[in-house]
Amino acid sequence: MHDGARDIRLAAQRLADCLPAPLGGLARLAYNYHWSWQAGREELFGAIDRERWRFVNANPVRLLRETTPQRLQAAAEDRGLIRRIERAETLLDAHLARRAAGCTVSAERPVAFFCAEFAIHESLPIYAGGLGALAGDLLKQASDDALPMVGVGLLYRQGYFRQRTDASGRQHEYWTDSDPEHLPAALVTGGDGLPLEVEVQIGGAAVVAQVWRVNVGRVPLYLLDSDVEENQTAARWITSRLYISNPDLRLAQCLLLGVGGVRALTEMGIVPGVIHINEGHAAFAALEYARSCLRSDDIGSAAPQVVFTTHTPVRAGNPTYPAEELERVAGAFAQRSGIGIERLLRLGRSRPDEAGEPFGLTQLGLRTSGYANAVSRRHGEVARSMWGHLWPQAPPERVPIGAITNGVHLPTWIGAPMRMLLQRHLPAGWHAAAAEVSLWAAAVQGIPATELWSVRSQQRAKLVDELRRRSVIERLSRGEGLEAASAGAGAFDPDALTIGFGRRLTAYKRLDLLIADIPSLRALLAGEHAIQIVISGKAHPDDETGKHVLGALFDLTRTGELAARVVFLDDYDLATAMLMLQGCDLWMNLPRPPLEASGTSGMKSAINGGLQVSVLDGWWAEAYDGENGWALSGEVDPDTNAQDARHGVELQRLLREEIVPLFHERDEHRIPQGWVTRIRASISSIVPAFSTKRMLAEYTAEAYSRAQRPAHRAREAPGLDAVGHGSG
Ligand SMILES: *Cc1c(COP(=O)(O)O)cnc(C)c1O
Repeated sequence: MHDGARDIRLAAQRLADCLPAPLGGLARLAYNYHWSWQAGREELFGAIDRERWRFVNANPVRLLRETTPQRLQAAAEDRGLIRRIERAETLLDAHLARRAAGCTVSAERPVAFFCAEFAIHESLPIYAGGLGALAGDLLKQASDDALPMVGVGLLYRQGYFRQRTDASGRQHEYWTDSDPEHLPAALVTGGDGLPLEVEVQIGGAAVVAQVWRVNVGRVPLYLLDSDVEENQTAARWITSRLYISNPDLRLAQCLLLGVGGVRALTEMGIVPGVIHINEGHAAFAALEYARSCLRSDDIGSAAPQVVFTTHTPVRAGNPTYPAEELERVAGAFAQRSGIGIERLLRLGRSRPDEAGEPFGLTQLGLRTSGYANAVSRRHGEVARSMWGHLWPQAPPERVPIGAITNGVHLPTWIGAPMRMLLQRHLPAGWHAAAAEVSLWAAAVQGIPATELWSVRSQQRAKLVDELRRRSVIERLSRGEGLEAASAGAGAFDPDALTIGFGRRLTAYKRLDLLIADIPSLRALLAGEHAIQIVISGKAHPDDETGKHVLGALFDLTRTGELAARVVFLDDYDLATAMLMLQGCDLWMNLPRPPLEASGTSGMKSAINGGLQVSVLDGWWAEAYDGENGWALSGEVDPDTNAQDARHGVELQRLLREEIVPLFHERDEHRIPQGWVTRIRASISSIVPAFSTKRMLAEYTAEAYSRAQRPAHRAREAPGLDAVGHGSG
């Protein structure tokens, strides 16, 4: 089997050959992202050369290639370090050697998880935000649970855009090239020793892609890459950027991901038992799976094995393409694969007979899958009403879209102080029991307030340290004066209530609610209690509303006391998210209901003892219990201006009357007992219930194991009847 495992081993060996012999183990660790979610492993690399580790964005392959021979030699002579490396290798080997768990998904027929983005680690920049974070967390959980899975995505040479704001708050976008040879990745080669290639007809050209393999613990992640010499220049550009603006190229990416992805698996000898299409981008995979794996022209035959997850009700997240455009890009593919453009179009229309209706990938995914789900209970209701017309015969509650609420991967997101605290107070094996609600409730109640508060203070202090450093650099790079830049940084207070807002800056996330009533905000921030607000996020390059909010925020923070109390961090990514989520006391989420399908950053905050103030939408609608945080109403109101005004006032009231006083109500040891009580309630109610451990168990029970039983049709995809079953 040419699945790239050997190619990764050889790449690691080549790297090891360039290092002093005692460090060889580090090269092998470097080529598996397993290290990134193991306690203390990062330190093995950091110890080699701390400054360089930062400089190479925590990419271990680059670190080992670029560190000076003197430093490598010094590390090779550090007996303690060498012992820790050996121990880490032993643990990795044990992680990899476990037998596949669960009888429902077999190692011979793994789940193939398709997604347009994966956020595994900041050193692999092929993600934009929440969808990628979820996909990355899910692969890691599959590895931890020994669930047989492979990931399929695209290797974007330039990834998602990077953000820099100027002094007026205008966002500037730029892209940086990453050389895949410098990533912990290896090109998959075939029997002839040459890079394995797949071909997909896109537009008028046969586009060739090579395949990179990245190891995520036990899970191989395969990334297609069209930047090869055989392709015309435009075809090489297909895998240049994530969510590329040009619609033809975006559709081309989808064809390459779905069709090319299945072909790559076939070429490597991997026969998936389940195709999990995570969001519409990869929906073409179902067609190719029916044809090449099941050798059937009947798309319906693939349905029992196809799982589709929809991630957003927002229109821009469910793009459609005019018929001419689909034909231009996918016409030749449709013809050669035997499905024909007419049939393909009908599969992607909500109402197949409406000739004027454009083609949508979400519709295609819903229609060709045997199990479909939304990502929270409330999103389930929203999705059933939104897509119900695909099943005109079904009453609203019978629309076959289920709900599996998102979760987050605990070992990835937990801060070191919090992890050590839980290590002391939870029973052994608590990692593996991440979804056991009763275990958490009992153990967390017993944690003394002093210990919990000390952990919170340590994690906040680390954030404040980093804010001081980064805000000086960012202000200087925006052209601010030396004095202003340094003074601003000095104002951050390691003991102040620290409020965080980090996510995409798009209209429905409503960051503007916070700054709608400036006098109130000023009064709050200038009050007797110290408060600071940290904000970070990117506005999509074409999103003028999102950019406008950023400008307004900057106008506000340029002046007086607010400059010292509100900080914006450029270029939100996994590392910045991690820093903020581990450090902030309060995490704020202000989506316009019902548009937040789930949201996951709040779950990451809860793991670290952060409390939530959030709209009752997405996951918070099912997590909030009155004791574990604060809520803004989740009602739907067509008068969005009136709703925004109400929510803005209520947010200020909650902050002023409940949140700020509770944080500052201290006992004789300066511990905020009431606040700590809420932290306990938050950890025990949220961490186990909103973990990927629970989420993946639900996917396995509801979707993967059903799909594995060939006789069982999880759902007769009724939409297929409407468009006529191929030859069948
Ligand atoms: C978790 C995460 C998100 C998702 O945040 P939401 O609050 O769900 O919007 C986005 N970006 C990054 C980098 C994340 O880690």
